[in-house]
Amino acid sequence: MPDPRPLLMIPGPVEISPRVAAAAAAPPLGHLDPAFTAAFGSALAAMRALWRAGDDAVAFAVPGGGTLAMESAATNLMAPGERALVVVTGYFGERMAEMLRRRGAEVERVEAPPGEAPAVDAVERALTRAARAGRPVKALFATHVDTSTGVLLDPEPLARLAREQGALSVFDGVCATGGERFEMAAWEADLYFTASQKALGAPAGLALWVAGTRALAARAALAAPPPMAGDWEAWRPVMEGYEAGAPKYFSTPPTTLVLALAAALGELLEEAPEPAAALERALDRHRRAAAALRAAWRALELAPVPARPELEAHTLSALRFPPGRGNELLGAIRARGVQLAGALHPALAGAYFRVGHMGQVTRSAEPLERTVEAIAGALGRDPRAALAPFAAAWSAGAA
Ligand code: PMP
Repeated sequence: MPDPRPLLMIPGPVEISPRVAAAAAAPPLGHLDPAFTAAFGSALAAMRALWRAGDDAVAFAVPGGGTLAMESAATNLMAPGERALVVVTGYFGERMAEMLRRRGAEVERVEAPPGEAPAVDAVERALTRAARAGRPVKALFATHVDTSTGVLLDPEPLARLAREQGALSVFDGVCATGGERFEMAAWEADLYFTASQKALGAPAGLALWVAGTRALAARAALAAPPPMAGDWEAWRPVMEGYEAGAPKYFSTPPTTLVLALAAALGELLEEAPEPAAALERALDRHRRAAAALRAAWRALELAPVPARPELEAHTLSALRFPPGRGNELLGAIRARGVQLAGALHPALAGAYFRVGHMGQVTRSAEPLERTVEAIAGALGRDPRAALAPFAAAWSAGAA
């Protein structure tokens, strides 16, 4: 019988490697089992290495997802009445702002129309204005790649601005980590959070973050503790315990998911002799896949939502439907064996679709070619017209 399961080309959850699938399908281990302890410790150390964080940063892997990671950032860093600045480039920036509002923070937003990103100057002006008014911003929040628009931000100047102004900088890396550059220590960023189901190539179910010393100090200084299940201080001894080979209990770790994450991160790290080079390999893979796919999109006359090439993420493509076509196209593509995603930004509902190109599918041309072929076929176009520029860009991108 043919496999009825489509190739998953949505922006998460993504296809996983055979090794990760084997880890996810293995009989469970207990949370105090030495093999589990070793795997959990190695995953946490790998996160710190891949985020390019300092040795004094703490890595957390907690049951949940990106949304839980966002919420724990809001509740551990901010107290009611404190001021936050959110750089909004889409739906997930809006969600971050709403979480901060529910935390009782005073939220200022710097935003741009969908597909655009605010200028760094606009962020600087907002920070300076707040400081002059005697209400300085405690933390700046930005989305590295907003999955609703496909807009990529450069975190480096934002982290630098925040540092200059004495504010913490927090980046949502859910649709970026492992596919876009992030250098936590060098950029002096304070918190980078993500989830397991995207470019890291593990199944969904884990909220992941690395917190630097200033962020940890901000949590420690809160007068009233945050809600318990996402409290960094409740989880920190657990994470440090596993890394030291001495597990501690706060809430049962999702042992199977942690083993799958450890397999995914291990596979990533094995791509080169040391972590920094392995990360470069992963970034190269995502850049190469994005460049080849963009060549195909151009051939198919599919216009990206991001307004300028430098705003286009390497982890997903947000593409406007061609004239006369809409969501029905996704069904036609699905009938050709490839699952894509529809719109997420309410202002562009029904106007565009999304193709995730993260993790395992960037390791070879085949799944990407299948995707191009399915889209071309559903559009009634000759797939060869798109596959040729794809192949040329793929070859040009060889390391
Ligand atoms: N932030 C971004 C940028 C995301 O892409 C997502 C998920 N698509 C989230 C946050 C929320 O993550 P989750 O769905 O795992 O809760």
